[in-house]
Amino acid sequence: MSDCIFCKIAMKEIPAKVVYEDEHILAFHDIQPAAPSHVLVIPKEHIPSMAQLEEHHKVLIGHIHLAIQDIAVKLGIHETGYRIVNNCGEQGGQTVHHLHFHLLGGRHMQWPPG
Ligand code: 5GP
Ligand code: ZN
Repeated sequence: MSDCIFCKIAMKEIPAKVVYEDEHILAFHDIQPAAPSHVLVIPKEHIPSMAQLEEHHKVLIGHIHLAIQDIAVKLGIHETGYRIVNNCGEQGGQTVHHLHFHLLGGRHMQWPPG
């Protein structure tokens, strides 16, 4: 997707502070952190949101979550705990329409979320 900001980050057309990368996924610090640690984990493939996931994405989604475990260790939040958030669609609060998981840590999280 030529006008997608996260595709541009994945293709290194826009800079980002990358914390993890492999063939299929990229993780980078959120530009407006909502917690002391706030990383976004995205597939390199342009998938608009969770609502467009297909059967063949099963492995990719599992891969993202295992990578999040490693990234949490790297960020030093593995022991203290963290939150994984996916905002899906308008009422879910999604603003960037390229699938991403927020990894948030470094402070106590509130519940219910806003
Ligand atoms: P959403 O609201 O769609 O769940 O999350 C989008 C997130 O992307 C927001 O937390 C926002 O701060 C972040 N974001 C938007 N544009 C950029 C950017 O150009 N670079 C980075 N690193 N983060 C971005
Ligand atoms: Zn995209």
